[in-house]
Amino acid sequence: MTSLFNPVCRIDSLSPVFGFATVVDVLRLDLLHPVVSGNKWFKLKYYLDDAEKKGKKFILTFGGAYSNHIVATAAAAKCKGLKSIGVIRGQKAPALSYSLQDAVKLGMELFFISREAYKGKRIPDAISAAYPANEVYIVPEGGYGDHGMSGAKEILLKNDAAAYTHIISAVGTGTTLAGLAAAALPHQKIIGMSALKNNFSIVTEVNALLPAQKKSSFEILYHFHFGGYARYTDELLLFMNNLYSASRIPTDFVYTGKTFYGVFELLHRNYFAAGDKILLVHTGGLQGNRSLNDGVLIF
Ligand SMILES: *Cc1c(COP(=O)(O)O)cnc(C)c1O
Repeated sequence: MTSLFNPVCRIDSLSPVFGFATVVDVLRLDLLHPVVSGNKWFKLKYYLDDAEKKGKKFILTFGGAYSNHIVATAAAAKCKGLKSIGVIRGQKAPALSYSLQDAVKLGMELFFISREAYKGKRIPDAISAAYPANEVYIVPEGGYGDHGMSGAKEILLKNDAAAYTHIISAVGTGTTLAGLAAAALPHQKIIGMSALKNNFSIVTEVNALLPAQKKSSFEILYHFHFGGYARYTDELLLFMNNLYSASRIPTDFVYTGKTFYGVFELLHRNYFAAGDKILLVHTGGLQGNRSLNDGVLIF
């Protein structure tokens, strides 16, 4: 994984392209790896180091059929020479999603469990029977936890972000946002755009990963979910196509398209003050666009 893990990323500027008075720069974590989404590399890094240190042979994690985290874990484990196991929510569909096909190609063994069983995150008996429990390292769903947060901190620590007043990112489990908040300087405001509808408990989950002096040092905006997790509208797809035509920046419909849309909306509403400098973290996720029909996106 070390060879693939290059935490210094390109920064593109949107302001000259769209004529924004405010500085709006994009940290291109999507360029870290062609398939694996950018923030997932950061979130997985310390889990894999820990697994290696503890001499574990297998990496087990949880996710849905379209999970970027599942593919990323499969790829990262492979880089470390570890075998990966995916516990997948819901019954096995006749045709595997592209994400799951990729995971299998990367050597991950998949186990499908019912949505009810998935809620308890219990390890299925078939796994306990096939793998010795003391050789299996469990990465929580979405990489949520202290190791995930510590890795996500490096998004800001390893890139030149000190000059920005606002740092904005998509939010799923909130692990990435917690890392950004933990690494932020006192003059920086951290804003998360929730990709899930009405998921207000996320504030508690982000706070649980933060030291006392950083708790509630961030803000989460909830109005840019476009109907909920992995839902989309024609307006969102049109926005993503227009963004790409003008800037050559591709986004995904689950997370980053919505986050970029939200930032444009905030600019439109004069949310920012003169002199603010915005860093928009492109968290990747482009592989997820393959579940859209051909031709819907121009990239
Ligand atoms: C997983 C993912 C997120 C969500 O990250 P969290 O740390 O779970 O909040 C955001 N953007 C993309 C592209 C992702 O794949």
